[in-house]
Amino acid sequence: QAAAIDLGAHTPMMQQYLQLKADFPDTLLFYRMGDFYELFYADAEKAVRLLDITLTQRGQSAGQPVVMAGVPVHAVDAYLARLIKLGESVAICEQVGEVGATKGPVERKVMRVVTPGTLTDAELLGDKNEALLVAIHPGSRNVCGAAWLSVTSAQLHLAEFATDDLEAWLTRVGPSELVYGADVTPAFEQRLHDARSAGNQPFTLTVRPAWQFDGGLGERRLGELMGAASLAAWQADGLANAQAAASALLGYAEHTQGRALSHIQRLVVERDDEFIDLPAATRRNLELVQTLRGESTPTLFSLLDTCMGGMGSRLLRRWLLAPRRDRAAARERLEAIAALSSAAGAAGLPAWRGLREQLKNVSDVERIAARIALRQAKPRELVALGAALAKAQALAPALPGTGSAMLMRMAGELQPPPGCAELLAIALRPDPAAQIRDGGVIATGHDAELDELRAISENCDAFLIELEARERERTGIANLRVQFNRVHGFYIEVTQSALSKVPEDYRRRQTLKNAERFITPELKAFEDKALSAQERALAREKWLYEQLLDKLQAHVAALTGVALALASLDALCALAERAHTLGWNAPEFVSHPCIEIVQGRHPVVEARLAERTSGAFIANDTRLSPQQRMQVITGPNMGGKSTYMRQIAIIALLASIGSHVPAQACRLGPIDAIHTRIGAADDLANAQSTFMLEMTEAAQILHAATPQSLVLMDEIGRGTSTFDGLALAAGIAAYLHDRSRAFTLFATHYFELTEFPAEHHQAVNMHVSATESGRDIVFLHEVQAGPASRSYGIQVARLAGMPAAVVNHARQALSALEAQQNESRSQVDLFAPPPAEQAPPPSAVESQLATIDPDALSPREALDALYALRKLL
Ligand code: ADP
Repeated sequence: QAAAIDLGAHTPMMQQYLQLKADFPDTLLFYRMGDFYELFYADAEKAVRLLDITLTQRGQSAGQPVVMAGVPVHAVDAYLARLIKLGESVAICEQVGEVGATKGPVERKVMRVVTPGTLTDAELLGDKNEALLVAIHPGSRNVCGAAWLSVTSAQLHLAEFATDDLEAWLTRVGPSELVYGADVTPAFEQRLHDARSAGNQPFTLTVRPAWQFDGGLGERRLGELMGAASLAAWQADGLANAQAAASALLGYAEHTQGRALSHIQRLVVERDDEFIDLPAATRRNLELVQTLRGESTPTLFSLLDTCMGGMGSRLLRRWLLAPRRDRAAARERLEAIAALSSAAGAAGLPAWRGLREQLKNVSDVERIAARIALRQAKPRELVALGAALAKAQALAPALPGTGSAMLMRMAGELQPPPGCAELLAIALRPDPAAQIRDGGVIATGHDAELDELRAISENCDAFLIELEARERERTGIANLRVQFNRVHGFYIEVTQSALSKVPEDYRRRQTLKNAERFITPELKAFEDKALSAQERALAREKWLYEQLLDKLQAHVAALTGVALALASLDALCALAERAHTLGWNAPEFVSHPCIEIVQGRHPVVEARLAERTSGAFIANDTRLSPQQRMQVITGPNMGGKSTYMRQIAIIALLASIGSHVPAQACRLGPIDAIHTRIGAADDLANAQSTFMLEMTEAAQILHAATPQSLVLMDEIGRGTSTFDGLALAAGIAAYLHDRSRAFTLFATHYFELTEFPAEHHQAVNMHVSATESGRDIVFLHEVQAGPASRSYGIQVARLAGMPAAVVNHARQALSALEAQQNESRSQVDLFAPPPAEQAPPPSAVESQLATIDPDALSPREALDALYALRKLL
């Protein structure tokens, strides 16, 4: 819009503003004016709406009143946090020139852009969260390239995957902000918008110019970052689409930070088949990091995360959401947990106890390292870093020396880079000001020039006292005072009554009600010297601080290594502590397919029961193998079916990340995915689409599940009429049993399905037990072999306080229905396989089409082939 405006008609300041704003049309521009950041025009109106601040008008520009709104500089973080939460981005424009150095407004520049995916401030992020910036580049032939990073960590990830899997892939990665090119098709853009609102946490979409998605450029830039001519060592060569995404990713990240991301040192190429697939439904249904209501407790993660610091929490969360199929990492972690848990020292306490004490209050080295690289680190962060390095060094000898290769490696990684702590200690005051601009950051004794400048301003007081005494004597004014204030500088104050005694050389500076303020040539000279000394000291400090940041650059790589070791140790100690506190045991991995659990529990339900002391959790065994890979689970509502199924998935997941598990013992074969289809009972708002959603999710599972997958099906078919639902449930069970051959837990209220195992020999009936005491029902929560004897629905209704008349009516109706059913029994064989599909023979066109290999044809040949096909119609 700015271009369309006649700039010349504006005031010089508004001209400057509009020129800056032209580069950031879609971003709120915070324009620094003294102690405020101001927003103008449409930005101001938007900010007023979003932040509940006041809209004002000041003066005119181009004949129109200037509409503006501002936020105070000292409170800017709180406002930024709110805007970012709302998905907005903010360009921060600072005054960079000297005030009054040039004619017209002070020189200003956008120093950084704060966007949801590129946050680096702990205040904006929260110490347990991570903002991920993702760039996507759809290539040809159903291949999509992606690159992503968290600006505050040192890793960059690349992946290529089938464009069809875009949504699933986005859920797994969980972006805060997604960058895509302006040239994607409208259909693709629509998918991004849909995915954005479908996910658990909506992300911000940012469009970037198409030319920034350049594979060759991406390859070169990644090579530069890694310091290598080829990306082959990371198996990242040949991923042209991912490299194109990386080029845009780095371009955008640098655009927001105002500098290169030199701290990125690790390149990770993620391949789909490396991870155990945890689709969005599974994350939701198992309440891994969010409850079904969208809260962050109580979840599996909230139960698991007793980490002492944010770094540990973030890593643990990454572990939980990206379990690997390969067990090497899990085995290593289990070994480490064992070593941390074995008794050590004279007191015979497990090592994790002492280590966790030591890990308390260790600051966030990962983020500080990134902020050093981005030259955003604040003085207090650097002091905290020094303390953290000392703590890291002290941790290394406290690690158990044997039993764990991972811990032994970490002992080395915890060694701070040589010289780094010393550098910080000699350069910085132990309690520096929050901002370098306030001064008082650099230690005394570090720089002779700074010390000298500081001495001048510090000697000020002595000089002023001496001058005051001297002037009192000279003038004979006993109450004469020499003082300083920020606005008027130094002055000699004389009260009204003594004015007659003022000597010749006093120059009037200011008149007050009862006094006059003067300056003398001597005082003026001193003022110049003192003020300039102070200013020069500040400038010198700033310069020295920049120097310090320069020197620290060399340590960034090593610091990220220390950070990772601290985070891993924290996460491992938390897992060891959880295992101990909650009575968990180590799982065992085997190479043959099986899931065997002795006395398994659902950890979150168990914790809730423990809190309310409403009885103990009943543990249950599970035994799944290729010979018995499906359990059809029946029993009354509230009997514990869901809980039992979920606990199996949770135990399998915990084992896969290398944690102990809530069971006496657990033996686990290979697993490639955990699928869940569990009805969202409280999804009333979407009642219309519930059944459609149910079928969509079930269909996805049937397509994806393999013999190594774990599938949880809870009450499938509930969303439609009884016969429909029953028929579908039967069909789905048969498909999972005969074709997918996945490990399946199939809970159902269709009693008819208890006949399923009779003809499907790898399936067994299980039921949750309940007994009747009088007319009431008591849930035992024990999972036992065999079908449930009855469904107890009426008892549950009674328990829920249904009026006696309804209960009686229902009993009556039930016996009538049962009698009727017994008569017509076994007329329908639910599980009879459908007649062999009568596939019609292929038509001539189809036969011809099947012989064509499109990739092998020239355009000319393709056209010929098309004509030939057309003739066959
Ligand atoms: P269903 O799926 O059969 O309707 P749920 O699994 O939802 O039943 O369980 C209902 C409630 O019963 C749970 O909220 C929990 O309080 C309790 N419960 C379930 N399983 C157990 C168990 N093994 N031990 C103790 N209480 C349990």
